[in-house]
Amino acid sequence: MPTAPTPCPLCGRPALRSPENRSHPFCSDRCRLIDLGNWLGESYRIPGPRAGDGAEVPPRPVDGEEEGS
Ligand SMILES: [Zn+2]
Repeated sequence: MPTAPTPCPLCGRPALRSPENRSHPFCSDRCRLIDLGNWLGESYRIPGPRAGDGAEVPPRPVDGEEEGS
């Protein structure tokens, strides 16, 4: 059963599907890392402008919780 190589989602080159290619579905480890970097870069950007909202949350009052009575 012939296994046709799938195109690398990053560069479009055929990515071999073999035990040696641990970067599948990417053609190489380099493309995998680049894609990972892009993904992380975007995820860091999204919460960036909104980080200020979370910082306004007041801390919970922990004191007096058990010594109330
Ligand atoms: Zn590639």
